[in-house]
Amino acid sequence: MTKTHKITLIPGDGIGPEVSGAVVKIVEAAGAATGAAFEWHRFAAGAEAFETTGEYIPQALYNSIEENRVALKGPVTTPVGGGFPSINVTLRKKFELFANFRPVKSLPGLKTNYPNMDLIIVRENMEDLYAGLEHVVVPGVVQALKIITEKGSTRIARFAFEYAQKNGRKKVHAIHKANIMKLSDGLFLNCARKVAAEFPQITYAEHIVDNTCMQLVMNPYQYDILLTENLYGDILSDLCSAFVGGLGLVPGANLGTDCAIFEAVHGSAPDIAGKDMANPTALLQSAVLMLRHIGEDAAADRIQSGLEQVYREGATLTKDVGGKSGTKAFADAILQAMEMPRTVPA
Ligand code: NAD
Repeated sequence: MTKTHKITLIPGDGIGPEVSGAVVKIVEAAGAATGAAFEWHRFAAGAEAFETTGEYIPQALYNSIEENRVALKGPVTTPVGGGFPSINVTLRKKFELFANFRPVKSLPGLKTNYPNMDLIIVRENMEDLYAGLEHVVVPGVVQALKIITEKGSTRIARFAFEYAQKNGRKKVHAIHKANIMKLSDGLFLNCARKVAAEFPQITYAEHIVDNTCMQLVMNPYQYDILLTENLYGDILSDLCSAFVGGLGLVPGANLGTDCAIFEAVHGSAPDIAGKDMANPTALLQSAVLMLRHIGEDAAADRIQSGLEQVYREGATLTKDVGGKSGTKAFADAILQAMEMPRTVPA
């Protein structure tokens, strides 16, 4: 019997409508073939929502996420150095989406300088400098508050170790700058150490964030799971995306106890918006994470193998990964690969 899932969809702006359009089509097709149906509840957010509703995040969008408990979100532009607060940060805080899960995994057939990458970034998603607490002390002096709590640090460390244990991962590195930020990053580390002690079968190590950048570029294979505070995790995510072909590829999940919002690591990419150039892989792989989250593994597997077939064959890839095709042609190739799977040559 077909099960219908209600999903809140925020197409976003910039390349958001292009990548989310492609992804919805592919998810629909995978669902139709595997006995799952989707009811998409669409909402604008950010500047686009403000024009029509007078709110950056309309109340109806909050209500929809609260009811559906699952959302797929395209990127939303955040003004730099002023304007409204980040929609992403606001949603993460509102729904207590404390864990940002970002798997960085190579796709078959795609040549990069770092083949066979498979690491995961587990990023604390609500605290740190992203608390958005900034004020002018006196003209010319601004203070930004870095919030690190025992509760938040312990919760994200536990998420990382429990994920490692359930999924056969071997190592967790806590990334910090506790040599300088002795109290805040020191607290983060202390919490990570306490949780690590409960998981003796998983190797625990600590690296200072600046050294981590060098270590990652020299030898990323030494890492398995990176456990980070909010800001370091954001920066390291973009760095790590380059190992597997760039921002067009890396998916993400914002997870809380009640709700989950799935979105790519990348932003709205205004430089390529509206040009049929965006790679929808990152949002598609976010949708695969979403399908697994709602128990639709057959649909998730179908998409993943279609996607991998298109990468293995390499004939219809987008420009960011060295191809010549547009967003639409790439999406059509995945739809076709899902219809007519070809086995991998031995
Ligand atoms: P960006 O991720 O949008 O783009 C960085 C570079 O990567 C650009 O050259 C872009 O063309 C390329 N790129 C990104 N996604 C791609 C894709 N799917 N296919 C091919 N190329 C891709 O980062 P930015 O330019 O620093 O930020 C633009 C806007 O996005 C800002 O307003 C920022 O606040 C916002 N942003 C939103 C989110 C989100 O909604 N989750 C995340 C990050 C940034």
